Amino acid sequence: MSSLTQLLSDHNIKKSARLAAYRQAVKSGTQSRSPQIEKDLTTRAVRTLSGVTPFAVMTKPFVCPGQCTFCPLELGMPKSYLSDEPAAARAKSLNFDPAKQIESRLTQLVETGHNTDKIELIVIGGTFSNYPASYKRQFFLDMINTINGSVSPNLEAAQLANETAERRIVGISIETRPDWVDETEVKLLRKLGVTKVQLGVQALDETILKRINRGHSLESVAKATRLLKDAGIKICYHFMPNLPGSNPGKDLAMARLMYEDPRFKPDFLKIYPVQVIPGTALYREWEKGEYVPYSEELLRDTLLSIKLITPRYCRIDRLVRDISKKWVAAGTKATNMRQYLQAELKVQGKVCQCIRCREVKAADFTLDPDLNDEVIETLGATEHLLTFEKADRLFSLLRLRLPTVSSALFSELKGCAIIRELHTYGKTVAHTAKTSSKTQHRGLGKKLMAQAEQIARQAGYAKIAVISSIGTRDYYRQLGYERLGYYMVKNISSLH
Ligand code: SF4
Ligand SMILES: [Zn+2]
Repeated sequence: MSSLTQLLSDHNIKKSARLAAYRQAVKSGTQSRSPQIEKDLTTRAVRTLSGVTPFAVMTKPFVCPGQCTFCPLELGMPKSYLSDEPAAARAKSLNFDPAKQIESRLTQLVETGHNTDKIELIVIGGTFSNYPASYKRQFFLDMINTINGSVSPNLEAAQLANETAERRIVGISIETRPDWVDETEVKLLRKLGVTKVQLGVQALDETILKRINRGHSLESVAKATRLLKDAGIKICYHFMPNLPGSNPGKDLAMARLMYEDPRFKPDFLKIYPVQVIPGTALYREWEKGEYVPYSEELLRDTLLSIKLITPRYCRIDRLVRDISKKWVAAGTKATNMRQYLQAELKVQGKVCQCIRCREVKAADFTLDPDLNDEVIETLGATEHLLTFEKADRLFSLLRLRLPTVSSALFSELKGCAIIRELHTYGKTVAHTAKTSSKTQHRGLGKKLMAQAEQIARQAGYAKIAVISSIGTRDYYRQLGYERLGYYMVKNISSLH
């Protein structure tokens, strides 16, 4: 056996190191390429426990219609982003070229043996909706072509190619302002394949919104939320405690309103406590003593109480913005806030009920989960959160929307119940690995789909639609769904 063959089969050596040695040998010509070796050393590798690999891709610097007092502007960066944030530095060095950003991330992941089989694209950078439509379309075409590893002439063809590509796009998110979400924008978002929108909400109080010069009202948040949910799109709010004009009591009251008022209820949440950054209007207020942030202790208590009232339907994606301490003149610098709060909750014998805190861990795979159905009232629809859970561990979930009136935007949704999310937690398993016993392949998703179809049928709907991402359309075809416009649709009128 050659020393390279020995090394490649030595399980005491990390896969990433073996893969690097293999690639080096191929490069130098001492080893011929072997798809089998590449597969063995890459496809079973694991990156996340949530099942997909995130790719953050940043749009070019462009003027933002907002003038929020807390928002930094660094020359050569999209508004609100700082060049040393993760993903931002890479984007800047690659001149914000979407293809190069994807290539660079792919190379990095493949070289370290990570799975890139299921990709979630996270488009970041200022207010997406404000970019010209032609830029948005080209940006998406370049991203998808690069993932496909082939060049399609237009977006539709690239999306079609991704349906059966080696690397599938299982979700796409963008970030924008609520007042920029109108009917035309929602149509474009679906055309681009967007399945999740991050909405900058920041505060749920008109006086605070005015004080921070946010430029939109709570009503625009409610309107955007409904438009997006009616189109089946998942929603993540960005929420900022400790804004000028707020206090811990108000922050908690705003969180309660967000969680309980049917107009809001975000599926995901990013909590970004205020950080005062030089160059902003807020910085000047702080310098003059007109704004004083909470002490670290008070902020922790506030965040803890927000966590404690977070409902089971919401996932706290992030707590505290991941920026370098050097930018923060005042406000928290703790990027490990989540870990601190988790530890504190443990000491107090309390738990956060949010989705992220309940997601199944590898050790729980032996549990046999039960089916739950939670009814959630939202503006314009009753929703069902169907889950498989056991001992407060969440294995999979489905969001079913039963609209009172069908979205007028998409004729294919007429008379449809809508599945906005289907997610099975657990390690990433390559879509070719059929024999895995991990949760992703235990058929939980299929069972949730069947249950959703039953509920929709009983509620009088003749059809059900899924906001399928481009790369998961094939999965739904196997369950009897057909592509109709931007959705996968199934006739359920014959179900009993
Ligand atoms: S809308 Fe967003 S990017 Fe624009 S100024 Fe406000 S916070 Fe910054
Ligand atoms: Zn939580």
